[in-house]
Amino acid sequence: ATPTAVMVATGKGASLGVLIKGGDALEKSHKVKTVVFDKTGTLTSGRPSVVGAVLFSSYSMEEFCDVSAAAEANSEHPIAKAIVKYTKMLRQKFGSNTEHFPEAKDFEVHTGAGVSVIIEGKRVLVGNRRLMKNFDAAFSHEVENFVAENEQLARTCVLVAIGGKIAGAFAVTDPVKPEAQRVVSFLHSMGISSIMVTGDNWATAQAISKEVGIQAVFAETDPSGKADKIKDLQSKGMIVAMVGDGINDSPALVAADVGMAIGAGTDVAIEAADIVLIKSNLEDVITAIHLSRKTISRIR
Ligand code: ADP
Ligand code: MG
Repeated sequence: ATPTAVMVATGKGASLGVLIKGGDALEKSHKVKTVVFDKTGTLTSGRPSVVGAVLFSSYSMEEFCDVSAAAEANSEHPIAKAIVKYTKMLRQKFGSNTEHFPEAKDFEVHTGAGVSVIIEGKRVLVGNRRLMKNFDAAFSHEVENFVAENEQLARTCVLVAIGGKIAGAFAVTDPVKPEAQRVVSFLHSMGISSIMVTGDNWATAQAISKEVGIQAVFAETDPSGKADKIKDLQSKGMIVAMVGDGINDSPALVAADVGMAIGAGTDVAIEAADIVLIKSNLEDVITAIHLSRKTISRIR
């Protein structure tokens, strides 16, 4: 495209809330044949909430939530915020102090898995199955059943291990964005296929993808795994757009032919992307492709 055409299109994009970082992104967007979506915060609202908690130990619900919230207090992850919020709500109900949590030391983030801290000399893990397995926390049938039941319902289970044993779990829901299904089916009508990649587990990922109408799913992928998936599609001759919001999506956003970041996402993702969807509305994936198609066809 000529510099003028690019300027006009990027200006038009900006007025629509689609920030296109350069002519290259604009030129490639019309060729996109596959759109890869992250799940959490991209297809879903990204504002998960705790819908239930269950104990697998003799801790009281209050103690259990306090320890979990203390572990999550330093995490920026939306699930962590949901657990802290739930605990504060619970404390309010019991009329106790809503700010002071037990002291957590040695806070560690395990990207795409959860967090680890030391509280009162015990290791506390809050996260998914993978995190529990990495630290050899044992799984009972009871835990397996709780996890399976909730994953079928498209919920994410957050397990909490205290001193090597699973003490309890939270069931978390993150509703699908209202436009997600419409956007995916519109892409299909344009001859563009849809894929989901997520760090979340397979059962939850499949339940969500069914709800949205996504054609293929890759779950339990870490940040480099997401990027590998993109490269894999490209090696088959596919022109690929990646839509994501998290730090964990940034390698994939860079690897994609066109990286699109959700405006409400993390700075790292916005930095890594070629296009920013300022309104955080998935409709703008289509807006970006349309803009590109129009600009390119005008030139030819
Ligand atoms: P996505 O790829 O869907 O955006 P993430 O890679 O951020 O998801 O996280 C993948 C999974 O790791 C989450 O679904 C959750 O089970 C677990 N997880 C990550 N961080 C945390 C945390 N701070 N607390 C609890 N669970 C976490
Ligand atoms: Mg995400």
